[in-house]
Formats: sequence, C-alpha cells, structure tokens
Amino acid sequence: MQRGRRKPDWLKSRPPSGTRFTEIKESLRDRDLHTVCEEANCPNMGECWSGRDGPGTATFMLMGDRCSRGCNFCDVETGGMDPLDPDEPANVADAVAEIGLDYVVLTSVDRDDLADGGSAHFAETIREIKRRDPGILVETLIPDFEGDPEAVRRIIDAGPDVIAHNVETVERLQWPVRDRRADYEQSLAVLDQVDRESDVHTKTSLMLGVGEYDHEVYRTLGDLREVGVDVVTFGQYLQPSRSHLDVFEYVHPDLFETWRAVAETEFDFLYCASGPMVRSSYKAGELFVEALLREGRSAEDARQHARAAGGD
Ligand code: SF4
Repeated sequence: MQRGRRKPDWLKSRPPSGTRFTEIKESLRDRDLHTVCEEANCPNMGECWSGRDGPGTATFMLMGDRCSRGCNFCDVETGGMDPLDPDEPANVADAVAEIGLDYVVLTSVDRDDLADGGSAHFAETIREIKRRDPGILVETLIPDFEGDPEAVRRIIDAGPDVIAHNVETVERLQWPVRDRRADYEQSLAVLDQVDRESDVHTKTSLMLGVGEYDHEVYRTLGDLREVGVDVVTFGQYLQPSRSHLDVFEYVHPDLFETWRAVAETEFDFLYCASGPMVRSSYKAGELFVEALLREGRSAEDARQHARAAGGD
C-alpha cells in the first residue's frame, strides 16, 4: 500500500460554489439538517446540488451525524448518538419543498441502538415528503437494520420510488472495509426482500480501489442480479483521513468504463453509473430518469405512478 500516494489527475474536483449551493446550505442549516454530501465531503456536491441537468439532487442524512457503527472507509463519527429529533421528518419535507427538489435521496447513519433501527422514523420522513407532494421521487439508501425484515418492510410500505442498500465491496473484503456488524449475505438479503416484496427499483454501490480482484467484482455483479438489483454504481474509494483504510489503488477511468459496459451488457442491469468520482447518489435523479427511459417510461410516468400511489 502506497501511503500518501499522489492522487491522479482524474480525481481532481472543483470546490462547490454558486448561489444555488449557498441557498441549499442555508436551508439545511436553518433546520439543523445533515447531508451525506457534507458529512462525507463528497467531491460532487457542487454538481449535484446545482443540478446542471435538472433541479439537482441532495442526500439528506437522517437520525443525526453519529453512527452506531465504525466502517473503516467512512468519515462519519462513531458512537455518542443523540435521541431522534421528532421534528426531523417534517423539517426534511419543508427543506425539500423550499429548495424545490423533485428527486430526493434519503439516507441515514446506522442506529443499532434503537429497537427498530430507526426504520419507523425513516419511513415517516418518506411519508412526510410524499404527503406534501406525491409527485416527488424519493430514493432511499437504507441501512441493513441488522437484517430485520420488519424494519425493511416499514420502508417498503412508506412508498419510496427507489430503495438502495450498499454492499460497498466484494464478499472477501467486507471486513476490514465495513464494520463487523455488516455482512455480504445480510446486505444481499435486504435487497432480495425489496425485490420479492415490491416493484420498487433496487440499487447498490461498490467502491473500487480497496484491494478487490476483477473476478470478485464480476462475481458480485452476478450475485446482485440474482437478488434482482436493477441499478449498480462504481466509484473510487478515497481515504477520508490517515486513520481510515488505505487506498489500495487508484483505479483507471478505463476500467470503470469497462465495468459499466459489463454491468449493462453482460448482466443486463437497468443502468450502471461508473467512474472515479461516482458516489451512491451521484446525479441520482438524472440517472433514474434515464433508466426509466430505457424501460420505455418517462419521468412524468414515474411521477404519475408516484401520485397514483398517493404517498400512501
Ligand atoms: S454504517 Fe458504516 S458507512 Fe454507514 S454511516 Fe455508519 S460507519 Fe458510515
């Protein structure tokens, strides 16, 4: 492992700026809301928030900024979680309306300290957004809720349009990349349950550059299709600090492109976003609409469908 190795040019990004970016930041601070974009210091924040190809995408992080787990790739603080803020679901829905987003990504820290893992709070946030405007498309990036099917069912029943859960890496590297409470089979089971119990699109993400072999990535794509996953993204792992997992390698953009082609042509994923700077919810709204078009549907179809579902 080359510690402190210079980042290749393809990983350079411009710091976020612009009035739209500032507006969103103010709206979030006014309501004491967190985004994974800021917590993970995502390089795409400027692009996603300003939404050059549409109203933009922001990823709200629910249930506080401290996690009950400590994955070695993640910059979120571990332990010392606060009680849930009962106003958060309404505050998020207010912010979504004020910012004018029509595609929202909701994620959360893991709250293994809560009996239901926070699934009821997460579900209430989806409902609050849909209550305000059933046509808003909601993507949820959920924890594994320690494999509790009731918790996953609460999310499904709240009526999101996309349910994502990240396997993060290949089976062999689950530890040390992820917290020991995370598990490859457990994550596949979450995705499988959503596929079996609903017609919601499912999605997952893998980081590359943590020591995986190509044959392992290939096998993982097969495992994901077996549990009905529609969308997969690949992005470069970036070390948040020296106390986090080392970068094993900076994967060349050509290999990212290869994996995109393999995922879409050989494994027939609905779409695959793949690139060094790609993150789970990178341009999620735009890419979801693109996927719908491949299914011969339009974004308006999806909104009509969401409205018909009427946010429960
Ligand atoms: S579960 Fe892991 S990846 Fe998710 S917020 Fe907690 S530490 Fe980060």
